[in-house]
Amino acid sequence: MIIVMKAGAAKKDRDLVLKRIRELGYKPHVIHGETRDVIGAIGDERGKAVLQSLESLHGVENVVPILQPYKLASKEVKKEPSLVRISDNVVIGGRQLVVMAGPCSVESEKQIIDSAVAVKKGGAQVLRGGAFKPRTSPYSFQGLEEDGLKLLAKARELTGLPFVTEVINPETAELVASYADILQIGARNSQNFALLKKVGQLGKPVLLKRGMSMTIQEFLMSAEYIMSEGNQSVILCERGIRTFETATRNTLDLSAIPVLKEKTHLPVMIDPSHGTGNHHYVAPMCYASVAAGADGLIIEVHPDPEHASSDGPQSLKPAKFDIMMEKLKLFAEAAGKTLI
Ligand code: PEP
Ligand code: MN
Repeated sequence: MIIVMKAGAAKKDRDLVLKRIRELGYKPHVIHGETRDVIGAIGDERGKAVLQSLESLHGVENVVPILQPYKLASKEVKKEPSLVRISDNVVIGGRQLVVMAGPCSVESEKQIIDSAVAVKKGGAQVLRGGAFKPRTSPYSFQGLEEDGLKLLAKARELTGLPFVTEVINPETAELVASYADILQIGARNSQNFALLKKVGQLGKPVLLKRGMSMTIQEFLMSAEYIMSEGNQSVILCERGIRTFETATRNTLDLSAIPVLKEKTHLPVMIDPSHGTGNHHYVAPMCYASVAAGADGLIIEVHPDPEHASSDGPQSLKPAKFDIMMEKLKLFAEAAGKTLI
């Protein structure tokens, strides 16, 4: 249920509503709107009638049910887009088009520092790089783990770029969060509910990838797992879904952008690298994503893709990344975004 407060309601009225929600066994989530606050009361659906009684409290405008199964992620609770702040000058979900770029995996100090310098020069605002890798085969490179996190931190120190890196299990989540600026939940873990709950408690922005066979509703339910633990800083990322098509690694579902924009206030990003699996297709999908309303892109860039430990075939060389970024400015401008 959503408890809509009157415009300009006093803090003491709001505090009383929060207290009553807790007494009734629900978790309150305050969402600050432009003119009024709304409070989501999340818990057992069967207690709707008892929550309705809050309508009689001072300062309450009305109490309305949230119809979607995802509550905090729904546009019903919050009409205006959510902004996820990463650093002083990087905010996702507003006018700024945010580009995250870097290699699939951190491989060595030289490789990650060269990558960070190159993507910064090209105009990326966030560095990407995997330290814990969820590989399909147990015999493939599994990542440098904590040493990789240390190298990412070094690259951040050198370039000033915040970084996003994947967290693959609840046991190592706190370790990753102690280094990273953004926690990535990969496609393979996007319905690992224990992990989603864990990152919901860590207080760091989360980049949540769509699972390869996940419906939009399931995707939003996964976001809800994170948000219901108290973390509202969730960025959704479409990275391709599995279809009958084999010409590309996955089928990049660009229609997910307008669909998600209709259903949720959360920012939406696109990963054209995993979405296509082929560096030739990355630039056109970047332009199309921005034209369709994406808030950001996460792109694999590697200084030497032929020798990459993972995902070389879909990684752009820095020179190609630079060209793509130049052209992207035109699409960003047409879509009402700025690429700075
Ligand atoms: C990645 O970003 O390197 C990755 C493994 O992505 P996904 O989870 O989308 O496959
Ligand atoms: Mn990859």
